[in-house]
Amino acid sequence: MDEILKDTVKDLRLKICSGEVKSVDVAKACYKRIAEVEPKIKAFLLLNEKEALRHAAQSDDKVRSGAKCGYLEGVPIGIKDNIMIKGESMTSASKYLENYISPYDATVIEKLKTAGAVFIGRTNMDEFAMGSSTETSAFQKTANPWNTEYIPGGSSGGSAAAVCAGMVPFSLGTDTGGSIRQPAGFCGVVGFKPSYGLVSRYGACALASSFDQIGTFSRTVKDTAMLISVIAGKDYRDPVCEPTDTIDYTFGLEDADILKKLKIGIPKELSDYETDPEILKAFEESVKKLKSEGSQIVEVSVPSYKYVPALYKIIMCAEVSANIAKFDGIRYGYRSPNGKSLNDEYSKSRGESLGYEVKKRILFGTFVLGAKNYHKYYHTAQKVRTVLINDLNKAFTACDFIFSPATLQMPVKFGQQVSEECDIFTTVSNLGGLPGISVPCGFSRSGMPMGVHFTGPRLSDAKILQAARAFERVSEWDINRFPKI
Ligand code: GLN
Repeated sequence: MDEILKDTVKDLRLKICSGEVKSVDVAKACYKRIAEVEPKIKAFLLLNEKEALRHAAQSDDKVRSGAKCGYLEGVPIGIKDNIMIKGESMTSASKYLENYISPYDATVIEKLKTAGAVFIGRTNMDEFAMGSSTETSAFQKTANPWNTEYIPGGSSGGSAAAVCAGMVPFSLGTDTGGSIRQPAGFCGVVGFKPSYGLVSRYGACALASSFDQIGTFSRTVKDTAMLISVIAGKDYRDPVCEPTDTIDYTFGLEDADILKKLKIGIPKELSDYETDPEILKAFEESVKKLKSEGSQIVEVSVPSYKYVPALYKIIMCAEVSANIAKFDGIRYGYRSPNGKSLNDEYSKSRGESLGYEVKKRILFGTFVLGAKNYHKYYHTAQKVRTVLINDLNKAFTACDFIFSPATLQMPVKFGQQVSEECDIFTTVSNLGGLPGISVPCGFSRSGMPMGVHFTGPRLSDAKILQAARAFERVSEWDINRFPKI
C-alpha cells in the first residue's frame, strides 16, 4: 500500500495544493490499492478510473497555474451507489436500476465537485439501503477487511470497507437507521450521520424519507469534519434542509479541554440488552477514559428505547412502500418483457427485479398503511415517536451527549443474522432527527474492531464532532493500523 494513502485528508490536500504530490498520483495509488485488495473485498460496484484521472489532472493543472485550490482539491472519495452523479449509473444495488443513468447531480455531489474532490467509484450497499450486512445487494457481497469471512455491516458496507482497507481516504454513505454508524463500528472507521436536514438529500435515492440522511466515513474525526464542512448547508431543493449557512466544522475541533466541560449520559436501559461482553468491556473502559479526562458521567433514562425496533420497522416500512411505488416498470428502470396487461406489467417488473428484503418491506409497509390498519399501527407509531423524542429531549437536559456502544454485537459471518437490537442506539438518532457518530475504540481478542457512539441534541453537530475528536485523542486507536488483506 502506497504511503500516501496513509495520509489524512487534511495532509493529502495540503500536499496536493502545495504541488508536493500530484492528485493524479494519489488517484493512481487508490486504483493500485483497489487492484490489490478488491478481489477479496468487493467494496465497489463501479470504478471510474478514466474520469477520475481526468478530474485529478484538472486539479493538478489548477495547482500549477496558481489558481485557488478547493477545500478538498484533488482528494479521492468513494460514493455510495444511491447518490446521483450526472451521467453515471446509480443502481442502489438493485437489478431494478441496473441500467439507470443519473440525469443530474445530487446536491452533495455538486458541492464536492466545487470543492475539487475526485470520484473514484461507486460503493456497494444493501439493495435500496435495506439491510445490515450489504448482503442484500443484487450484485455482490462485500467482505470485512479485518477478516474476509465476516460481513462489513450495512447498508453502507462498501463505503465502510473501502475506507477501512485504505482504498479511499473517505467516502459518503446514507443512514436511515444506522447504515453508516453500524458498518463504521464493524470496520473500525469513523462514521457520522448529521442531524436530519443538515445535509441536503436531493439526489439521494430515498429509503424512508423522514429518517434518511447522507453522511460520511473517514479514518479520523477531522477528515469527517472537513467533508461535512463541504456537504452541509441549506438547499432549497430539499424542503426539510435546515436554512443553515455553510460553516467550517473543523473550527474548535482541537479544543483539548472540551472533555472537562462535558456531561456524558450513559443510558440506564443499556443493561436491558444483551451486549457482546468484549464490546461492553471496551465501552466501560471508554467511559473510564472520559471520566479520567474530566467529563462528568451521569446516568440518563430513555424509557421508550424499548419501542425503537417496532417504531422503526413500522414507520420505515410505511415510507418504503410509498417511496418504492415509483419503481413501477413504466417510467424508468427495469421493465419486464412478459407483462400481459398493465397490472401484470407492474407486478412482473417489480417481481422480476426486486429482491426478497425489498418485497418484504413493501408488503409490510402497505399493510400498516391499509385503511383498516393505519390507526392501529402507523398512527400509533407516530405518536410513540413523539414520546421517544420527548424522552430524548428530557435526557438532554441532564447531559450533553448520550454515550453507548456503536453496536451491541460483533460482525457476524456471511449468512448469519445481525440481531434486530444490534444497532438500537444508532437507530434512535434517526427516529429523533439527531446527529450520531461512531468512533473506533479498540479490538476484540479475535482482531475485530469495536466502536462507541455519541448521540446529541438536534443540530449539535459541531459540538458532537468536538466531543468525538476529543475521545479519539484519548482512545489510543492507531489510525495507521490497516488490515492485512
Ligand atoms: N439496518 C437498517 C435497515 O435495514 C438500517 C438501514 C439504513 O440505515 N439504511 O433498515
